[in-house]
Amino acid sequence: MEEYDVIIIGAGPAGLTAGIYAGREDIKALILEKGTAGGMQNVAPLVGNYPGFKTITGANLSQRMIEQASNYIQINELEDVKEIKAEAGKFILKTSKQYYSAQAIILCTGTTYRKLGAKGEDDFVGKGISYCSICDALLFKDRKVVVIGGGDSAVEHALHLNDVCSEVTIIHRRDELRAKKDGKDRIKEAGIPIIWNSVVTEINGDVVLRSIKIYDKIKDKETEMEVDGVFIAVGEEPNNQLAKELGVKLDTNGYIITDKEQKTNMDHVYAAGDITGGVKQMVVAAGEGAIAAISAYNNIK
Ligand code: NAP
Repeated sequence: MEEYDVIIIGAGPAGLTAGIYAGREDIKALILEKGTAGGMQNVAPLVGNYPGFKTITGANLSQRMIEQASNYIQINELEDVKEIKAEAGKFILKTSKQYYSAQAIILCTGTTYRKLGAKGEDDFVGKGISYCSICDALLFKDRKVVVIGGGDSAVEHALHLNDVCSEVTIIHRRDELRAKKDGKDRIKEAGIPIIWNSVVTEINGDVVLRSIKIYDKIKDKETEMEVDGVFIAVGEEPNNQLAKELGVKLDTNGYIITDKEQKTNMDHVYAAGDITGGVKQMVVAAGEGAIAAISAYNNIK
């Protein structure tokens, strides 16, 4: 079993920044990432609110963070942490490859896309339904698509798709977007139409997606719309399984509760980034990652 002082789980902006801080100290630290480093940041089309860059693609920002972190810490990609047990003052981690022990762990496990829950959603994922415009926009070049949701992600998807698709429409369940003002202004400037107060109840097709049913809550009327693609951006769910099993305290929405030092209710267990809920921004994740690593280091040295 390999022994470490600090193991960081997740290599999004929180985990990578925690890695930079832990790796620069005189401790043995490691990052374990079940997918590829960068996390959800990789699929942000254009980031305009990360200090130091007027605009930068999420993928480029991730690459820079990965390169910087790699100078100080080993990042094991495609290594999924299956279980964490607290044993004799240490943590034993079982991954898809081997066992590790650590004096402290930092959970940076982030979130995953929430499903819409409409009839047919599961049948057409990859056949017209996508949760990621940066990944799939080109599949819908010169096609007609809708974006479902009213947050920052929906706005980003719509703006990105508008450069590629022949027609983009946002469908939102309320009469106002919850996205930031800048995003709302850009949607207006781009002339992207919004179908308000409406929900998509059904997604239909044959081998590929062909149409959706839209229910207008004000008019109490259902209509059918022919579309080639549906981009779903209705929020995220916390990846809290490991935390839950370990006994880390979560809030009512399933996010990890931390104090200002990113400490959880369990000694030597810290959390940072989107998994802690609150303001989900790359710069916040990075900041929390730094704090978590400093706290972990100070408490074990
Ligand atoms: P979000 O802010 O939670 O927004 C989700 C949207 O989907 C809301 O408009 C919500 O409607 C709608 N929705 C939820 N469930 C629905 C359902 N079953 N059917 C129809 N609509 C539904 O999620 P997000 O846009 O993915 O953003 C997640 C976090 O990342 C946020 O904190 C956001 O600020 C952040 N983020 C930031 C940036 C940036 O700063 N550039 C970019 C992307 C994401 P209601 O409004 O009615 O609740």
